[in-house]
Amino acid sequence: MKRIIGVLFILSMAPMGFAQTGSPKPATMQAIRCARLLDVRSGAIVENPVVLIEADKIARVGSAKEIKIPAGATIMDLGNVTLLPGLFDTHVHLFLHPGPQDTQTLRESIARRTIMAVKNAEADLMAGFTSERDLGTEGAEAADVDVRNAINAGEIPGPRLQVSTQAISVEGGHEDYFGYNPAVRMIPNAQMVEGIDELKKAIRFQIKEGADFVKIYVTGPEQVRSLTDVYVVPQFTLDEMKAAVAEAARLGKKVAVHAGGGLGAEVSAEAGVYSIEHGYYLDEPTLLLMKQKGIFLVPTFTVTEWNIGQSTTPAGQARGRLVEQLRHQHFEKALALGLKIAMGSDVGPFPHGTQAEEFSWMVKYGMTPLASIQAGTINAAELMGWSDRLGSIEEGKLADLVAVPGNPLQDINALKQVEFVMKGGKVVKNNAPPNDR
Ligand SMILES: [Zn+2]
Repeated sequence: MKRIIGVLFILSMAPMGFAQTGSPKPATMQAIRCARLLDVRSGAIVENPVVLIEADKIARVGSAKEIKIPAGATIMDLGNVTLLPGLFDTHVHLFLHPGPQDTQTLRESIARRTIMAVKNAEADLMAGFTSERDLGTEGAEAADVDVRNAINAGEIPGPRLQVSTQAISVEGGHEDYFGYNPAVRMIPNAQMVEGIDELKKAIRFQIKEGADFVKIYVTGPEQVRSLTDVYVVPQFTLDEMKAAVAEAARLGKKVAVHAGGGLGAEVSAEAGVYSIEHGYYLDEPTLLLMKQKGIFLVPTFTVTEWNIGQSTTPAGQARGRLVEQLRHQHFEKALALGLKIAMGSDVGPFPHGTQAEEFSWMVKYGMTPLASIQAGTINAAELMGWSDRLGSIEEGKLADLVAVPGNPLQDINALKQVEFVMKGGKVVKNNAPPNDR
């Protein structure tokens, strides 16, 4: 055994080599050069940056004037691009694809859907999304846990994932209104519960299955009639939400809620969930509670706009315009209050790998390009509890990096053209033209 270790030691030393100076150089050192780097914390653009990467972490960051690239380092010159931290999408559905939801959640096997989820994970990664939160498999049980674990084990490519398994709803509520004969519904689209005991049991079950957080559909259908007449069906009471947050916390987990608005959103904020998803029609009391408690809003504009774009009838299009107007009003209030906002697209109902569209929608709905990029980097890392290791290009953080053409602060659409992706120091995509350094 000792002999084998000796041989391995020599082998592992060999590629390190020695430069003319005689100092050992780690073989894993990589250097990235390009035209610009965005410091997402300050909003500053660093011209001609150099990022040194050792193994899976960022060793040094600065301008080419400040940083000398060590001899023996592998140099990647990406050319006229802007380097950014790996992007986050904090609201995805890897187990969904475009098209009627009932046909996929009821008629496609979990095995088939898992194969698709694996492909979706790769598509998202190639689009620059190196970290994602999956907000429910919609009938594919806890298959997201296996996708997450396979990515972590390096078996398949994909973003770093936090998953929620089935999510929780109520009889006849969200994810339970397809109207099928219950006899043919072998697997519901979420775990349906009634009352605090069942709610707590579902939370225990899902965390046992491997959920990183708990997702609850706290509201059901949204009845939008006019700018002043919106009713969002609440599905859980304040006592139930308090019990859910406490039960998740007992197991070291947090609760994210699907909430259109109204009372459901308000009791969620009161109970102390950590994120409100969608939040199309959040009332003033809810917004104030969110501000006070530091609850994140994940706006998911892209899925709304996708759905509006799908409607072909004049009535559907009129409703779409009304929804857009209402969204503008409510989002403006959220921005004015300075709520914490994390980028989340709800990708799945629209094609995976296209969700950088969300950045453009956030800007169209009133955010600055920098604020939208922060929502998809540092803010999202904070939401996912990964601020210490991800979300910005800083020394000691994991080397998750993307590069886009031009300057995304001048044209946010640049984020739809990710040319280079590195995850944990490994290049997973590089469209930059080859160079001789
Ligand atoms: Zn969703």
